[in-house]
Amino acid sequence: MRSIYGLSLNDLETYLKENDMKPFHGKQIFKWLYHKRIEDFDAMSDISKKMLSKMKEDFELDLLKIRSLQVSKDGTKKFLFEMKDGALVESVLMIFDYGYSACLSSQVGCNMGCSFCASGLLKKQRDLSADEIVLQALMIQKELDKDGNRLGNIVVMGTGEPFDNYDNVMKAMSIINDPNGLEIGARHISISTCGLVPGIRRFAKENLQYNLAISLHAPNNELRDKLMPVNKAYPLEVLFEALKEYCAYNNRRLTFEYLLLKGVNDSTTQANQIADLLKGMNAYINLIPYNKVDEKDFETSSDENALRFYDLLKKRGVAVTLRQKKGDDIDAACGQLRAKALK
Ligand code: SAH
Repeated sequence: MRSIYGLSLNDLETYLKENDMKPFHGKQIFKWLYHKRIEDFDAMSDISKKMLSKMKEDFELDLLKIRSLQVSKDGTKKFLFEMKDGALVESVLMIFDYGYSACLSSQVGCNMGCSFCASGLLKKQRDLSADEIVLQALMIQKELDKDGNRLGNIVVMGTGEPFDNYDNVMKAMSIINDPNGLEIGARHISISTCGLVPGIRRFAKENLQYNLAISLHAPNNELRDKLMPVNKAYPLEVLFEALKEYCAYNNRRLTFEYLLLKGVNDSTTQANQIADLLKGMNAYINLIPYNKVDEKDFETSSDENALRFYDLLKKRGVAVTLRQKKGDDIDAACGQLRAKALK
C-alpha cells in the first residue's frame, strides 16, 4: 500500500478528483497530517466516513521506526530510522540560535565515493522515496512536539546525493514547504550537492527559492579529483559554468561548503585559490570542521589553522563563515551511525 506521506498537495487533490471527492478536502487532509500530526485516519473529524474508508483502502499512515536515538551534550539528536524493508537511514536534529534544523538523508548509502566521507563506506542500496524523506522531517517535528517546539529549517545534507535522487527529493521538499504541509519556508530549506552538474542545471531552471549548497572541499582539479571522484566527470570549470548560470537565473546567494582537512586543503596557497575561484560570485563559503571517521586517515585542521585560513579568506574579500562543531560525541558525521549499526 502507498504511504500518504509521498503525496504532494497536488497529487492528493488529483486523487480526490479521480475518486469523485472534492479536491478542496486536500488542504484539510494535509493539515491533519502535517499541522495536527494525527496518526489515525479516524481523527480527521471534518472528513466524511465514506471518504475516510476509501482512503484507508488506498493509503497507509505508518511512521518510521526509530532504531536508535542518541543525544549529544550540545543537544544535537541523531536518529537512526528503520524503513519498511529494513534499510537504515540517519537524520540529525540540531539546535542553532536561529532555531531547530533537521539534516535529512536522501539515499540509502551513497555512490559518490568522496574519500573522506563515511556515507560512501557503504555503497548506495537504493534511493529514498519521497515519503521516506518527508517522514524523517515529520518524525523530528514529532520529537520537538514533546516540548512544544517547531522545526524551522531543513538541510538535505545527510547520507546520499540529493541530485542523484532529484524527483523524490524535490517532491519531498514541496510537501515540507507547503503552507498546509510542514510549512517550512523555502529560504529555510537547503539542498547540498557534491556537484552533479545536470542536477544543478535542472534546479537552476526551476526557479525554486531553496538554498543551493555546493560541497567544494578543494580549490583545484588536481586535489578535487583525489578527494571527490565526481570532479572527474564534472571538473571545476564545468561546475562553475553551471553555477554561474544558476546565479544568473536565480539571483540567489550560493553557499559553498569546505571541509577543513589538516595538511590537505588548508594552506595559504589554497586559500588564495578559493578567493580566485569565487571572485565576483554572489556566494559565501562555510568552513566546516571535519568529523573524524575511524576508517579514514583525515584529521580536521587545528583551531589555530582554521582561524588563519578564515582570516586569509576574509582579507581577500571572500564572504566566509567558520562553522561550530555539533554532535561530534555521537558520530553525527554523515553515514557514521549507519556504518556502525551495520558492522
Ligand atoms: N552529497 C551531498 C550531500 C550530503 S553530504 C554533498 O556532497 O553535498 C553533506 C556534507 O557533509 C558535504 O559537504 C560532505 O562533504 C560533508 N561531509 C562528509 N563527511 C563529513 C565528515 N566526516 N565531517 C564533516 N562533514 C562531512
